[in-house]
Order: sequence, then structure tokens, then C-alpha cells
Amino acid sequence: MDALIIEEHRTQNKEQKYLKKKPGWRLGKCVIFSVPATGHVNPSLALVEELVKLGEKVIYYNSSKFKDVITSTGAEFRDCSTDLDALVDSSGMQFGKNMIGVAYVVLKSGIEIAGKVMDDIREEKPDYIIRDIISSHGKIISKALKIPLITFSPVFAFEDKKLPPKAPLFFILKTFGMVITGFLNLLACFALAGRAAKRYGFKRKELLYAYNDFSGLNIISTTREFQYYPELFPESRFKFCGPMFYQGREKADFDFKTLPSDKIIYISLGTVYNKDIDFYRNCFKAFSGTDYSVIMSDPACIAPLKEKPENFVIRQYVPQLQVLQRAKLFITHSGMNSMHESLYYGVPVISVPQAADQFLIGKRAAALGAGIYMEKPTADRLRKAADKIFGDPKYAAAAAKLGKGFREAGGAKAAAEDVIQYMRKMDQGLERVESRE
Ligand code: UDP
Repeated sequence: MDALIIEEHRTQNKEQKYLKKKPGWRLGKCVIFSVPATGHVNPSLALVEELVKLGEKVIYYNSSKFKDVITSTGAEFRDCSTDLDALVDSSGMQFGKNMIGVAYVVLKSGIEIAGKVMDDIREEKPDYIIRDIISSHGKIISKALKIPLITFSPVFAFEDKKLPPKAPLFFILKTFGMVITGFLNLLACFALAGRAAKRYGFKRKELLYAYNDFSGLNIISTTREFQYYPELFPESRFKFCGPMFYQGREKADFDFKTLPSDKIIYISLGTVYNKDIDFYRNCFKAFSGTDYSVIMSDPACIAPLKEKPENFVIRQYVPQLQVLQRAKLFITHSGMNSMHESLYYGVPVISVPQAADQFLIGKRAAALGAGIYMEKPTADRLRKAADKIFGDPKYAAAAAKLGKGFREAGGAKAAAEDVIQYMRKMDQGLERVESRE
């Protein structure tokens, strides 16, 4: 790296003392590729912030809607918006609850972005690429330009060649169901991957496996305790650093003084699969006229406000990290971030999964004692489960135990150190990228 850039990093670096404590660490240039989804961007921001503090120059490619929050971490933002942004925004349901359908649109946009930004990256010459686990463009570009690749997973790590040996029956059935209903999308994925692979001189398999790539370093933002079958993921390649939060992303303060009681229940279906109006109605029915104070996030603005009970506060956007520091129960779709954030603050959950990996995440939290799992959340069931959790401290204790493990895993700071150590070893020729064949 040229001296001028190093000098520029040094002046940008807010934590010189930290660097001095870790002699031998290098200053480098990193490009990050992610996808335009809050659940994937949020945890990566904390890692970016830590890398910037260590003096790394970070260039982050994503959709323009994340520009401000990305820039606030100290990274340089570059726009690579595609049609996928509108699909995520308009309604998760539109691109399907079938994960093969989702895989198809994500792969399609990844290939499009790779084509658009390849020349920029060639010119930029980053020392390494960090890509979100579902960013196929990160994988394509790193392989085409021979740039070291680090994978960042804000979700569970998945063993890629087979289902986990002890995969729960419901997961196997769901997977087979998806293959059958998503068969046409599966064929489309093969065709797309085949064309792109030919263009860049890869094997098709390499693009289809883009989601679960064992080569390089893998930073997983959960703990081994929370991960399914952690023994499948060797310590040398998989760094389980725990959840990562970037407090700078909270856009507003929440006024807790307006709440009628401190028996706070927070309800959210997250930012994508959040259009189940019957669910919002069931929540109204379950908690109307009770002494619970209910805060509800409604990003799609579809909750029937005319029916809203007095003890509910509904916001399009809730500063979730702040609210979870006061809530006693979280009724959540069980997106990985929401689950992590809840348990981190010792808040037990009622899991009402909607799609994707949310079923696995919700089941895991319930199996570890931190909540109650529910696929059909009627008003009656919600009320009974909430009363049960408020009446029995074992749920909050289990959540607090998992939260303690999350904190001890080191978070974004540990992840940034792992990245730098890995890159240093690569430089010294001590690290080798495993072939996936
Ligand atoms: N979130 C928030 N305020 C809201 C709704 C969501 O801050 O009103 C944040 C939440 O804290 C989490 C992310 O959006 O970090 C949602 O990610 P998650 O993985 O839970 O679900 P997804 O939206 O990807 O389904």
C-alpha cells in the first residue's frame, strides 16, 4: 500500500493507542459488499466502525437508502442500487416466502452488481473484500480479481454440502417443500449461475455455493452456544464473535413517559416480512384493556389504527435497541438481529416466525428456554404466553444467560481483530485459502 494512503489512514485513525498495543497490525483497504436489507446491514455497521477505528480504509457498496448510516461509521459509501431494493421495500411477500425464490432474485442482483462494479474494484485494488453471506457479487469479484475474501454472516452458519446430520424434521420437511414449490426458480438459478460462471471462467457450482463458502475467514455474528451444530464449524475458519450492534443507527429517542405502565411488551415483525394485518389485530385483541404497555413497530404502516387500543403505541420506526433495554417481553418474528438484540438485553421472547430462517431461530431460543414458540399466534395464545412469561422468571433468566454469552463473545471489536489478524497472516503467507472442491 502506498505511503500516502497509510498516512491518510493514520490521520483518520481515532484509536492510535489501540494500534500501538497491537504491534504488527497492518493498515489496509477493505471493500464491503452486502445486500439492501436492514437485517444484513445493521450488524455489519458495528464491524465497519471497529475496522475504521483500527485505521482501515473501508469502502462500503450498498443501496443509496443506507448511505447516511454507512457514512456515519466512517466508511466511504458507494451506490450499487438494483431492482432488489424496490422488492425488499415494497413487500417481502412479493419475492416470496420460498427461499429458493429469494435466492434467485439475490443471485440475479449480485451478478448485475458484479458486472457494474468490477472495473472500479480492479482500479481500487483493495487488500481484501468482506462480503455478506448472501452477497454473490462479493464472491464473484473476489474470485475474478483474486482478492482475499472474508465472509460475514449475520445469520446462522450453514454447512453447505448437506443438511446438518441431526437437522430437525420440521426443517427437512420445509426444505423439501421449498424445492418442490420453488422448482422453476431452482432451474432459473442454475441457468443464471451457469451463464455468469461461463462469463467469469468459474464452475457453476462455485456460484451456486456462493452463500455458504468455507474458503477464507468466516465471521459469524452469533455464539457457538446459540448456533445449531457448532461442531460442524472449525475454530480455525469460523469465528463466532457474537452479535454486533451499532448504536449510531438509532434514528430517534423513544419517550417512555407516555406509557401507562412499566410492564412493557414490544412487538415487531422486522423490516421485510411484516405485512400480516391479522397478526396486528390479534395483538390488539390479546392485550387490549390489560395493564401491559405495548409498543409496536409497523414499518409498512398497515396496522388498523382505528382499532388501536389505548395501551398501545404504534410507530413506523421504533429505536429497538433503546426499547429492548426497558421491555420485559418481545413478541418477535425472530429475525436473527431482533432475536440477538432481545437476548442481549435479557428480554425473553414469544417467537412468531414469518419466513426464511425465522423458524429455526425462534425454535432455538425456545429450546434454550428463553421464550415460547408459536406458528399460529391467535389472540388467546398470545395473551396466555405473555402471562406465562411475565409470571415465570425462568424465561428471563435463560434470556439473560444467553445475553451474557453474547457479550463475552467479544462482538464487533473481536471480529475486527480477527479480520486484521487473518489479513496479517495472509500477508506473511501463513494463511491459505481452502479450495472448496
Ligand atoms: N428495527 C428497528 N426498528 C424497527 C424495526 C426494526 O430498529 O422499528 C431493526 C432491528 O433492531 C433489527 C433490524 O431492524 O436490527 C431487523 O432485522 P432482523 O434480522 O430482526 O429482521 P428482518 O428485518 O431482516 O426480517
